[in-house]
Amino acid sequence: MSTSGTENPTLPRYVEAALPVPLRRVFTYRVPEEMREKLKLGARLMLPFGRRNLTGYAVGLHTDLPSDVEIDESKIKDIIGVTDEEPLITPEILKLTQWTADYYASFWGEMLKASLPAGINSEKVRPKRRKAVRLVWSPGFSRPGIGEPPEGGTPSKPLTEDQIKILDLLTKNNNEMLFTDILEQANVGASPLNTLAKRGIVEIFIQDVDRDPLKDAKLPERDDFTLTTEQQTALDAITTAIGDNDKFKAFLLHGVTGSGKTEVYIRAMRHALDNGRSAMMLVPEIALTPVFSRRLRAVFGSEVAILHSNLSTGERYDEWRRIRRGDARIAIGTRSAVFAPLENIGLVIVDEEHDPSYRQHESPFYNARDVAVMRASLAGAVVVLGSATPAMESFFNAQNGKYTYLRLPDRIGGLGLATAELIDMRDVFKRFGKDVALSPELLDAIKETHARGEQVIILLNRRGFSQFVLCRTCGETLKCPNCDITLTFHRGDNKLLCHYCNHRERSPKVCPHCQSEYLYFVGEGTENIADQLTKKFPAMRIARVDRDTMAHKGEIEDVLLKFAAGHLDMLVGTQMIAKGHDFPNVTLVGVISVDIGLGLPDLRSAERTFQLITQVAGRAGRGKQAGKVLIQTYYPEHYALRHAKQQDYEAFYAEEIKFRERLGYPPFYVLASILIKHRDHAYASKQANILRRSLDTAARSIESPRLPNSSTPPLRILGPAPASLSRLKNEFRLQIILKGTTRRTLRETLNIALLDAEHQGCDLRTIN
Ligand code: ADP
Ligand code: ZN
Ligand code: ZN
Repeated sequence: MSTSGTENPTLPRYVEAALPVPLRRVFTYRVPEEMREKLKLGARLMLPFGRRNLTGYAVGLHTDLPSDVEIDESKIKDIIGVTDEEPLITPEILKLTQWTADYYASFWGEMLKASLPAGINSEKVRPKRRKAVRLVWSPGFSRPGIGEPPEGGTPSKPLTEDQIKILDLLTKNNNEMLFTDILEQANVGASPLNTLAKRGIVEIFIQDVDRDPLKDAKLPERDDFTLTTEQQTALDAITTAIGDNDKFKAFLLHGVTGSGKTEVYIRAMRHALDNGRSAMMLVPEIALTPVFSRRLRAVFGSEVAILHSNLSTGERYDEWRRIRRGDARIAIGTRSAVFAPLENIGLVIVDEEHDPSYRQHESPFYNARDVAVMRASLAGAVVVLGSATPAMESFFNAQNGKYTYLRLPDRIGGLGLATAELIDMRDVFKRFGKDVALSPELLDAIKETHARGEQVIILLNRRGFSQFVLCRTCGETLKCPNCDITLTFHRGDNKLLCHYCNHRERSPKVCPHCQSEYLYFVGEGTENIADQLTKKFPAMRIARVDRDTMAHKGEIEDVLLKFAAGHLDMLVGTQMIAKGHDFPNVTLVGVISVDIGLGLPDLRSAERTFQLITQVAGRAGRGKQAGKVLIQTYYPEHYALRHAKQQDYEAFYAEEIKFRERLGYPPFYVLASILIKHRDHAYASKQANILRRSLDTAARSIESPRLPNSSTPPLRILGPAPASLSRLKNEFRLQIILKGTTRRTLRETLNIALLDAEHQGCDLRTIN
């Protein structure tokens, strides 16, 4: 029922919008006539929502109200505006985010927001604009300054010396330069330039300039070596698959550290580009990117865009736009780069695919590795998951044929793997009669290594000075007022810090519970160990690498480059130093207390410990000298440590997989944990109990496949129980765990249960 004769019936009169709110649905709005022409799928919209205005995303366009939905036409609101005429979100990313939100039971609008560069909806992120100058009249004028005027007029005045300098410079630079560059390089003031503009000889205009995160970076040399036979075999398999008619194929590239995986990635990406496709490479958080991005920039130049969390908001926005415009056809980045708007993608690489930083732990939840596989599958592309220590799930998939297994068994150049030794810290305790953080064996090895002019890496996974503060008189520990967590002492600024909510307070002189002065600092962190080592080895140049020392952009890069250049003798740090770097002069790696996780009830703790030790051991002996790894541990008999010592992945896998099967853990079962949070414990508990009952009802109503030859039920529900962090940021946290044979079973159960729980009066805002 058109009201105006000029209305174009093919234009969308209604739009379905996904909103960044924790609701599992899209919302229908009316599009005012004057906005219909420019509204496209994937555009951001300004919308009224409740009493607020929100930025939403156009996920469906309709000329008529969708008939399958019951909507009261009079309740439909108008959109306020269309933010982008060129939609930011491509159809592919719309589909991928929808799948991801559904798969992880997250929210589509939040997933869409997460797929865009951070801060894009705020006013602050703008393209960077600069004044630029273009020569518009050049062929005519002749030296020394009086030339032909444009369009045949007479030049009123001869050109000045400064003006000639400017014109010469412009001619040398393809007739176009930034305003400030001209002032600087011609060493002139603004007035001769402005005069030239007034006379119509140059034109001054405003230009978008890209902020380049690698602007002044020194790029590594490119060597063009011949691939080893194993590398070539792996590469051939990948390139053949890329050429295979847009068919999806997944590979697991299992190669020890230093076996040349990166070289295979680079050549595979080259191949994709040469075939007119784009490529993406995901890397774990923080440590890898500076090293990798330079290596890739050296090979691919401006075809590479970099998306990682250490970029400034502006840089990230510009890099993202280069991808969106199609100027950069390779995207390299951390987790959220999996949503980069590349078109015609042919290859997706996930390096260190086992890395925990691919998991996003807050809403919207997802694992970028699994999203990467899905992205390749939707796009008919090839995905390569690479690791020295594949995730249990990935190796399992390779064994059952879902992934094609590629192996690089040896280090390049015939280098052996470093030998590893376990140091039993219970023995050390007996010898000293007390706990010491650094064993004499490790200290001796550091001394010898340094004497040979070689470098040392010390890994531990606790930052700060001491893990907690204990009162010797009353036995209380100092806890965060918002969380059920002990505060960590940071001596550098004499503060106690909560590592979860960032609460900070001055370190007290006396116990706040009993006023006793006998406060004890327990459990050494990086700050403390770096301190002890500095005292023991005053001649060594030692740097600490953790989230506290590397708070600023570029700091970690500086330290790693300095270490690589030999200006530092020892790095002490958390897992930030365990990955990816190639330091040929490192011959000793010491591992301190990474096994504390083994005492915790976490299903992945053995896997994580094995991976971390193997990764850091891979840092040792990458040059000509053999490397040595010393692992201090309280659990020398634990299989994760025994196999890590032997660097025997298959043996570890064989043992761990039995344990996973017996306990009903992944990859046999899919787990989902539902968090119920509220400031009031009784309230949270009530909601959790309602949800549990709804889950039980839903589970009974669902048909789901059983494991073959198994008497275990297809779905198990555990809890509610206090979450492992039972109070965080002033909220109590309860947890319900679902175990199912497939993710679909879990999702369907959850969807039905949430609807039912809402009917039963459950407050869904408490549920995550
Ligand atoms: P990974 O990614 O498996 O740790 P890299 O690709 O970084 O391994 O390779 C380790 C080192 O060996 C790098 O310095 C790399 O430049 C070099 N390299 C890789 N492939 C070859 C090859 N075929 N011949 C010589 N050197 C190589
Ligand atoms: Zn006390
Ligand atoms: Zn806290």
